[in-house]
Amino acid sequence: MRLYGGWDQHECRGGTVRQSNEMDQETRDQAFMRHAQVLAARAAELGEVPVGALVVLDGVVIGEGWNRPISSHDPTAHAEIMALRQAADKVGNYRLVGAELYVTIEPCTMCAGAIVHARIARVVFGATEPKAGAVVSNGCVFDQTWVNHRPEYQGGVLAQECSEQISDFFRSRRAQKKRLKVTNGQIPDGTNSE
Ligand code: ZN
Repeated sequence: MRLYGGWDQHECRGGTVRQSNEMDQETRDQAFMRHAQVLAARAAELGEVPVGALVVLDGVVIGEGWNRPISSHDPTAHAEIMALRQAADKVGNYRLVGAELYVTIEPCTMCAGAIVHARIARVVFGATEPKAGAVVSNGCVFDQTWVNHRPEYQGGVLAQECSEQISDFFRSRRAQKKRLKVTNGQIPDGTNSE
């Protein structure tokens, strides 16, 4: 079963379709997404689900974040929130007008809400998240009439690689659990999935 999927099947109002003259934009988006993937890897090193995010203003990275709710005992410590906090601190304003946010996985409702509060102009994400994603998978938060700011958004940037970061993480964690069971003299059942 594939949990983290592609982008093409979604058709929310604000989604954009690339034109061939937008190749520069695509190259730029991919470069920033690779940066976000490096941050996601830091989360994996902490044993956290690998999601990475960054905030870019006028082409400059002003905030970086990686998922760490477990290690920081903080339910709000998602990659996007951490990146927004650092960026807002840097510019001295909670409103990040004109900024872009890059994140390896589709934002959840909490992060989508924070993105709206921060007045982020454009959100770029990698793989969709069918369970908790709130941009195109569930709820389409940015397209609702009741939100007071609607960021542009683009998904599917290096989606395959972003998705693999997550599945590799869970695969190695399952293997680790299995090894632990063997060490403890239990028979691994092989069905223990997240
Ligand atoms: Zn989130």
